[in-house]
Amino acid sequence: MELVLASHNAHKIEEFATIVPNFISLQSLTDIGLHHDIPENGTSFQGNALIKAKAVFDFCHKPCFSDDSGLVIPALNGEPGIYSARYSETGNPDDNIQKVLDKMEHKTDRSAYFICVICYYDGNKAHYFEGKSHGTLRKEREGTQGFGYDSIFVPKGYEKTFATMLPEEKNAISHRAKAVQGFVQFLTENFS
Ligand code: IMP
Repeated sequence: MELVLASHNAHKIEEFATIVPNFISLQSLTDIGLHHDIPENGTSFQGNALIKAKAVFDFCHKPCFSDDSGLVIPALNGEPGIYSARYSETGNPDDNIQKVLDKMEHKTDRSAYFICVICYYDGNKAHYFEGKSHGTLRKEREGTQGFGYDSIFVPKGYEKTFATMLPEEKNAISHRAKAVQGFVQFLTENFS
């Protein structure tokens, strides 16, 4: 079965390629000849994931999937949420982290969670698979692994940030891994 991943992100493509079952032939946007950016102007993670998956289906008419993820902080009314990648003016990960640290300075509730929503779209129906990682936010950065907000996020049950973990360790408990598990189960039940 051919399946297109609606992302230009090489890191994501590689990560998904190692995870999807071997009866799936994963295709990238480069493979199908889609080179332009797809605007993410939805108002929710589900909405953004659907926009990306539909745009790719309209281009190639093959089943496809996308993912959308971000950090949600209840004490900041859900910010940065769908704006996680472009929270600060520059959109630079370090500036994004600094903005979170500044806004959280006087907050007592330091809980937060990462969410990942995968949307599979076959031209008829959209199926969604969601994963969350709950935890708390540190007041200072710790660790150099990973990306985005990893250096300030301590997952529940741990005393160290995602950015101190090896990829295998983070991947065993991450929001992305949980969403992928549900998606892989769906693919196996329906297409193997
Ligand atoms: P997107 O799903 O590629 O649009 O990513 C959204 C943004 O959420 C990323 O640029 C990061 O800022 C943040 N994010 C999503 N997942 C993670 C994660 O596992 N660790 C740290 N930051 C993340």
